Amino acid sequence: MAVIVRPVSRPSRTFREQIYLWEVWRGLLVTFRHLFVNLSRHARRSVGLAAPEGAVTVQYPEDPAVLGKRARTRHRLLKRGDGSPRCTSCLLCETICPAKCIHITAEDSPDVLVEKRAKTFDIDLGLCVFCGYCVEACPVDAIHMDANEVELSSYSRKDMIWTLPELMGDKKKQ
Ligand code: SF4
Ligand code: SF4
Repeated sequence: MAVIVRPVSRPSRTFREQIYLWEVWRGLLVTFRHLFVNLSRHARRSVGLAAPEGAVTVQYPEDPAVLGKRARTRHRLLKRGDGSPRCTSCLLCETICPAKCIHITAEDSPDVLVEKRAKTFDIDLGLCVFCGYCVEACPVDAIHMDANEVELSSYSRKDMIWTLPELMGDKKKQ
């Protein structure tokens, strides 16, 4: 197969572009424009004048992050009235997960109306991309992403795996 080579000419730079000073100056202009616009907004509002709200810096982690109502946070598995998992081990969430980070094993349910239930249910949050597909796929509304936890770092990859009792809230994550 013949290889087609398309030469691409290098863009030529002017002397002004090569010394970068003008570009640095342009960047600083943008920074200072934002600084003074925000300063003036805060100053005008502080004396009771009408002005758009100025940008604020959040002092995270001292000030906890305020998450939107629709934010997808750490997963949570819901329970039935008797405390057993609502999950029927249909494996739809495991199948649809693009990160392949859900691993479920099933067992027979003692409830005659429910065929299966989860024996183990692990989610590796170190691999999860928080897409929410597992929540959407669940036919029995057994999995939510509303635990309101986003600080999920750990010193080991193994500790990023959340198990069934931890996801159901029966055991605290170490
Ligand atoms: S949020 Fe997405 S990536 Fe994470 S477990 Fe659910 S389906 Fe998988
Ligand atoms: S989709 Fe729902 S019921 Fe099915 S295995 Fe996942 S959590 Fe369980």
